[in-house]
Amino acid sequence: MSLVVRGRKITRRTFARQGSLAVAAGVIAPLSLQGMKPAPKERLAMFQEDSARGVICRICPNECNPKEGELSDCHNRVVRKSKLYTMAFGNPCAVNIDPVEKKPLYHFLPGSTAFSIATAGCNLACLNCQNWTISQTSPDKTRNFDMPPEDVVANARSGNCRSIAYTYSEPVTFYEYVYETSKLARAAGIKNIMHSNGYINREPQRELCRYIDGVNIDLKSFNDGTYLKLSGGKLQPVLDALKTYRDEGVWLEITNLIVPGWTDKPDEIRLMCKWLADNGFTETPLHFSRFQPQYKLEHLPPTPAGILDTAAAIAHEEGLKYTYIGNLPGAGADDTVCPSCKQKVIERSGYRIVADRLKNGQCSCGATIPGVWS
Ligand code: SF4
Repeated sequence: MSLVVRGRKITRRTFARQGSLAVAAGVIAPLSLQGMKPAPKERLAMFQEDSARGVICRICPNECNPKEGELSDCHNRVVRKSKLYTMAFGNPCAVNIDPVEKKPLYHFLPGSTAFSIATAGCNLACLNCQNWTISQTSPDKTRNFDMPPEDVVANARSGNCRSIAYTYSEPVTFYEYVYETSKLARAAGIKNIMHSNGYINREPQRELCRYIDGVNIDLKSFNDGTYLKLSGGKLQPVLDALKTYRDEGVWLEITNLIVPGWTDKPDEIRLMCKWLADNGFTETPLHFSRFQPQYKLEHLPPTPAGILDTAAAIAHEEGLKYTYIGNLPGAGADDTVCPSCKQKVIERSGYRIVADRLKNGQCSCGATIPGVWS
């Protein structure tokens, strides 16, 4: 395929000659880069507020208040002459075409592809981050594409992608880029999806929901102390964000990574599932995901399969209807089963759809399976 960069069509081969990006091994297989590191173009940040202490960013619960010339906690915002600027606009450091199942979104246009982008930066600092080489750094330290929003949309269209995915690092921190791109994509009939940590304040979230069609949110733990130690964030804002996505009509799926010794306690998994059931998320797909040793938790073993099975059983007991197990090939827990007649309505093998028996979101028994199917 060819890519559009700054309005100019460039073949993949041309890119390949010019260099390629090294990002988190085995996670992202990016298209190649221009081989340059364009200086980040600073752009006035949204949701900033003047205060007696200086400018404050109101996008996420960190509410950073950097001094002149200092970087934000997410590494991609900076203060210049008392104004906050984002350095993460039009300069993705990872670009790829992925199956939508990889996000993971299992009830959202199954079998389609998503034009996937990320800039450097994240507002959390997870010890187990699989993309830490791009999430824990800033855009002036990564090699970036020069790809303004209109080029992202053009690339999605020419790649026959039904959606654009803001993913890999943390889209909340490249908010302005997501916002402008998703507006254009919506107008072009292309859907917008995010994989996010859900660490966002309500007002910017509601504004973003005007253009976002689907999200997968990482619910990292159901213990506030663990959240803080494992990720550097708090639990409650993520729970609030889940409700807001649902209330705003954005298609929602949830991922819970089970990290041995950190988030594998059955009683906490049960508390989480119970909270989800009690708060109206019984129809929301929940993906239990297997941890692989990486970043600062390289010394831990991968999650034993038995714990993932236990977690899925607990979710069913608590009334959650659509539970999946990810990152565990051969587990047989990535098919969608009709809760009414128990028929497998979508069968998957890895990210591949093997069989899709849904007709307009309906099982042959007449039950409606929630999701975005067309
Ligand atoms: S988005 Fe970044 S700058 Fe804004 S509050 Fe969150 S961490 Fe701080």
